[in-house]
Amino acid sequence: MLHLASSERIGGVWLADIMRGVLLPGGRQVEIREFPRPVPGHGQVLVRMKASSICGSDIRAIYREHLGHGPEGYQNVIAGHEPAGQIVEVGPGCRRFRPGDRVVIYHISGCGVCRDCRDGYMISCTSPLRAAYGWQRDGGHADYLLAEENTCVALPEPLSYVDGALIACGFGTVYEALTRAGVRGTDRVLVTGLGPVGLAAGMIARALGAQQVVGVDVSAERLRLASELGIVDQAVESTDSAAARVKELTGGVGCEVAIDCSGSPAGRLVALQGTRRWGRCVMVGEGNKVEFDVSQTIIHNQITIFGSWVTSVGHMEDLVEHLVRWELRPERIVTHRFELPDVAEAYRVADAGQSGKVSIVMP
Ligand SMILES: [Zn+2]
Ligand SMILES: [Zn+2]
Repeated sequence: MLHLASSERIGGVWLADIMRGVLLPGGRQVEIREFPRPVPGHGQVLVRMKASSICGSDIRAIYREHLGHGPEGYQNVIAGHEPAGQIVEVGPGCRRFRPGDRVVIYHISGCGVCRDCRDGYMISCTSPLRAAYGWQRDGGHADYLLAEENTCVALPEPLSYVDGALIACGFGTVYEALTRAGVRGTDRVLVTGLGPVGLAAGMIARALGAQQVVGVDVSAERLRLASELGIVDQAVESTDSAAARVKELTGGVGCEVAIDCSGSPAGRLVALQGTRRWGRCVMVGEGNKVEFDVSQTIIHNQITIFGSWVTSVGHMEDLVEHLVRWELRPERIVTHRFELPDVAEAYRVADAGQSGKVSIVMP
């Protein structure tokens, strides 16, 4: 519980001196500990957390075991890299945001001056100063988050805090991938892997104009959810004949754009084989490998392959604006919500891989 007896009045708001934060020690363990509430330094803001969703990367590289190195190395900090909340305090030198502002946190803070940072792709910053929230610096599974002002993206009112949390990683990532592949109204889009990222991809593909969205997954539960939500027009079970089925559903030719959100060798292969001649295939699902006959699969089919990692802070601003105009709510794909004390159960559900998006909410 918060120690409200010990608190400080800042900008007319009482803030507890002690906050809860979640650590992921590995081996599917979850630990809730108390920490002093951080104080924003120069150019930093203090965010009262409202929503902090769980990403597939948290499960793959932190929760099950600490797999990551470099940018994916978990440094025993407070977890959670999909944070959204309300600013309650700003440090000196902040130039845009004020207490009361609702924000999404772009989840990587970079050096700020390298080529990638200047383009807003702090994800690709290679400076030792680079730190991702929930990986190398404290993240969103807490009552408060200390954030750099330049990683905050304004979250306008029609969007909820849970919408915001989903934008911070998953929706930002698929928006970037699909716009990079140039999805437009003449395209049919194939999505392999219908976990939360795949569901997001289907939603954004349609909003960008795709007339037909075909989804492929191994899980009957996930195929059912994607169909029920109206995110895919056809749900195809991932078997040896999945690519042939995709062609059948598209007049024998395949989809103009495919996006792999499965991160599995089989899913990637279906994405490549389900791409139409002259089409574009984007890879966003992480980990694993893929092996394919290069001549037959991509050269003779004139296929362009893109790799796409997260997004830029500028494109995240664009996405927020578009979601408002499209009247699209990312939280539609959330199937489970938990409060901080139940975070262990939240991780168990996300780890089982049968759900839509799982979010921690702080009422
Ligand atoms: Zn993520
Ligand atoms: Zn940088």
